[in-house]
Amino acid sequence: RINIFWFRRDLRLDDNAGLYHALQQENQVLPIFIFDTNILDQLDEKADRRVTFIFEALEQIQATLEKKGSTLRVYYDTPVNAFKKLLDTYTIDKVFTNHDYEPYARERDQAVKELLQQHSISFHTYKDQVIFDKAEVMKDDGTPYTVFTPYSRKWQATLNDFYLKSYPTHKYIRNFLKEAPHRIPSLATMGFKEANGHFPPGAVKEELIRQYEQQRDIPGITGTSHMGVHLRFGTVSIRKLAQKAQEWSTVYLNELVWREFYQMILWHFPEVGKGKSFKPAYDHVRWRYNEADFERWCKGQTGYPIVDAGMRELNATGFMHNRVRMITASFLAKHLLIDWRWGEAYFAEKLLDYDLAANNGNWQWAAGCGCDAVPYFRIFNPTLQTKKFDPQLIYIKKWVPELETLDYPAPIIQHEIARKRCLEAYKRALQQQ
Ligand code: FAD
Repeated sequence: RINIFWFRRDLRLDDNAGLYHALQQENQVLPIFIFDTNILDQLDEKADRRVTFIFEALEQIQATLEKKGSTLRVYYDTPVNAFKKLLDTYTIDKVFTNHDYEPYARERDQAVKELLQQHSISFHTYKDQVIFDKAEVMKDDGTPYTVFTPYSRKWQATLNDFYLKSYPTHKYIRNFLKEAPHRIPSLATMGFKEANGHFPPGAVKEELIRQYEQQRDIPGITGTSHMGVHLRFGTVSIRKLAQKAQEWSTVYLNELVWREFYQMILWHFPEVGKGKSFKPAYDHVRWRYNEADFERWCKGQTGYPIVDAGMRELNATGFMHNRVRMITASFLAKHLLIDWRWGEAYFAEKLLDYDLAANNGNWQWAAGCGCDAVPYFRIFNPTLQTKKFDPQLIYIKKWVPELETLDYPAPIIQHEIARKRCLEAYKRALQQQ
């Protein structure tokens, strides 16, 4: 009899809660990963950066396991089918994994759990990808927070060493099942191609985090940690990162709290992930569904250099600096008055660090319909934002080299006209409440 450990958003052997619990049992552990065809079949881009990133992370895990005479088994299938194959091959006692909170993941886990129950196999899941999950940081009356600052205060007050303690998974590494290596299905057999570009390293530099507060808003330099993708796929442990943040920068720690805030919001208000505004009144805004303007925004051809630089950085690398994400998102929703859900979907397709909760929460924030206290009539002025955060045009010139030539397009709309149009449209929507 063996136990299974199922990797999902936790692609590391070190400090992994579910894996630690699996390895402490009597039975040996077979680690598995499933390239889920329910998800992959929906991806149009064959050189998807996320798929390449996952593939490389699995190769690293496999290399470590092989050295110990063990192996990872990787399936390319639906999760239920993959488990049916496992049931045909092994006598399984228990299955271990880590909590995955997204709506699709919850349905997937329920289906697998039911299948396992039919075979009297228990399914154990653990908190791993966050310090505090859905209901651990709540208001005193037991209801969820809907504003960030008090949530963050409570989050930080609740934090202690217990929550940051690492799981010493490495001590139990001999408990993996000894088996001849299995091959990971190649990207080509799954219909994908290797995406170009290199991925950010999975370690943060102390100096960068110590200077984070001063440098995080300057897109022309590497002033942020680029940990998004590692947190998304669990190639870095949130506990270890939060330990460093606590020591080096409370401002950086606060960013990690934002991540948990939006996950908490999605859990308690799942309708926001299904196309609804957090503030329902904003669903009355009459958006312009203008495909030509949207296309110009996507391609970085709006004639607003900071917006275009951001979109081009996204298209070329799968990353966009946070300050510029805010500017481009606001520009789409407010200047172009295009439904923020179109932008949300575009980011979801392109971002290497794409995360449903963070992307949705931030898009709603930028469109003014999310959970925050800033009134909708505060509209980013791209020119002033440039003066403040990229005064020497370092970031802009990197991505828009034709800036001062005739090849560069005229502004898609004048700022003042866009501003007035937006204010009127939002005002009208709110009057319909
Ligand atoms: P750092 O500044 O080094 O921050 C460290 C980590 O803190 C990030 O990796 C992230 O996990 C977390 N974090 C920081 N800011 C936020 C925030 N505002 N909300 C939630 N978590 C945060 N972040 C995603 O992880 N996935 C997304 O899909 C995503 N979409 C976004 C869409 C828009 C319109 C905007 C404005 C922001 C979005 N963000 C998203 C938040 C933020 O821009 C990125 O987390 C950040 O730019 C990633 O770069 P970094 O790792 O260098 O961040």
